[in-house]
Amino acid sequence: MARVYCTKCHRLENLCLCSALPELENKVELVFLQHPLEQKQVKGTAWLTHASLSQSHFLVGEQFSSDELSHLIQHKQTFLLYPASEEESVMTYSTEEVQTQFPLENCRVLILDGTWKKTKKMLYLNPELAALPRIMLQPQQPSEYRIRKQKNAQSLSTLEAVMALLSELEQSSQYHRLQNVMDALVAQHEAWIEMEKALRIEGLK
Ligand SMILES: [Zn+2]
Repeated sequence: MARVYCTKCHRLENLCLCSALPELENKVELVFLQHPLEQKQVKGTAWLTHASLSQSHFLVGEQFSSDELSHLIQHKQTFLLYPASEEESVMTYSTEEVQTQFPLENCRVLILDGTWKKTKKMLYLNPELAALPRIMLQPQQPSEYRIRKQKNAQSLSTLEAVMALLSELEQSSQYHRLQNVMDALVAQHEAWIEMEKALRIEGLK
């Protein structure tokens, strides 16, 4: 039987999370660039975050054409949300610096969605992206995202990173509503684990 996906949240119909998605009017435009291998990740949060925001675009790919890239970068002050190492000679801004130095309506932030290894490769394959000024988040609380293995407590899910980014940039509390999506995702995952456990006890698996 063909698997049926919800057209809005892109999850399997029986795992639809649309009822948990808030409708948020964001000022800073976001563009999610998702690595193709991240697309079928049932535990991924990028699409759910995108579907909750009014000013958001979503592209899947590893290497983007120069046309696509110039389209992504032109007309607005465009930043990349990605940590910069000391060897990289790129401009870096804290959210506070961006907030005080640029009109927010004129800002756009690109967000890479994938593992560290994959997103590093995306930067390597798209030097135009790597050269963009970077935004760095303030040090965060350890991630609540217990579903996927994190490299360290500072790695945030895409949803948590966006929640922190937009809250800091726009000085708004509305983005805390994204937490509902995270809670629903975690609850769904925990229910699934319980069900698996029960099936194993009954010897059905
Ligand atoms: Zn849905």
